[in-house]
Amino acid sequence: MEAKYNISVVVPLYNEAESLPELYDWIVRVMQAHGFTYEIIFVNDGSTDASWQVIEGLAKKDVCVHGIKFRRNYGKSPALFCGFRAAQGSVVITMDADLQDSPDEIPELYRMITEDGYDLVSGYKQKRYDPLSKTIPTKLFNATARRVSGIKNLHDFNCGLKAYRIDVVKNIEVYGEMHRYIPYLAKNAGFAKIGEKVVHHQARKFGKTKFGGLNRFVNGYLDLLSLWFMDSFGLKPMHVFGFLGSIMFFLGFVAVVVVGAIKLVALSNGTPAPLVTSSPYFYIALTTMILGTQLFMAGFLGELISRNAEGRNDYKIEKEV
Ligand code: UDP
Ligand code: MG
Repeated sequence: MEAKYNISVVVPLYNEAESLPELYDWIVRVMQAHGFTYEIIFVNDGSTDASWQVIEGLAKKDVCVHGIKFRRNYGKSPALFCGFRAAQGSVVITMDADLQDSPDEIPELYRMITEDGYDLVSGYKQKRYDPLSKTIPTKLFNATARRVSGIKNLHDFNCGLKAYRIDVVKNIEVYGEMHRYIPYLAKNAGFAKIGEKVVHHQARKFGKTKFGGLNRFVNGYLDLLSLWFMDSFGLKPMHVFGFLGSIMFFLGFVAVVVVGAIKLVALSNGTPAPLVTSSPYFYIALTTMILGTQLFMAGFLGELISRNAEGRNDYKIEKEV
């Protein structure tokens, strides 16, 4: 794809009207100081305040400003998804609208993508200005994400400030609440050169955080589990369920044979033979066989579904000549 600008800045926002003018001025200042061609895409995620009026006002006076308005609040991931779809710069920068991320980081992020050859550079808020209730769980979250994704050099998966080569954002699908795992999505799509840059972080100036509740941790871990599963077995569910199922069925079957054989031997020797059903092993064997069959069926059904799934042949092709 021919890029139309050096940089597309994508800003997802939900009720951030007070911050927008200042953010806009700051971005423009940085862009002009470095002579970048650019566009700013504000994605208004169903704000109920004056955010959209502010965006319309900015777009009217500056052709570099684009706005996308959702009818309702869908979440940060859908907002990023639509921003990514619209972006036309060779480097895409995402940043939060709340002025916690500094536009001054843009030139260096741009340089790391264009000169150092990174596919994705994630900001790292080494010194965070957020309450402890946010920072401590985040440490745990990042440690798990590092392990599961195998991206060992990232400290801060969920930093809103990130830079991407345009191909990355056109080849990943940020859905649900997957914005927390974009580096993992990128890695799964075949973009291996993922880096990190320490960025300045500030306390929120206006409004309050949109990600407060506790359920985001549970959901976050479940999302990570789905991603890991899709990455490892998404295209071949039978390989995991079929394998486990076969092993369990086999073990159960052997156990049943042993229980039966003991009974037969006892009968033929004329020694008193207890009922097969009075042995606990009989029930263990039975359960194992049933579970084995169930797992096998789950694998088979998964396989049938993936055979018919729309995206089954969506491979990320880098080049053709
Ligand atoms: N945001 C959004 N949709 C939502 C929630 C948040 O677009 O449903 C935006 C929000 O306006 C901000 C960014 O996502 O620009 C990060 O949100 P926030 O600053 O509340 O998160 P925190 O920094 O507290 O983790
Ligand atoms: Mg914030």
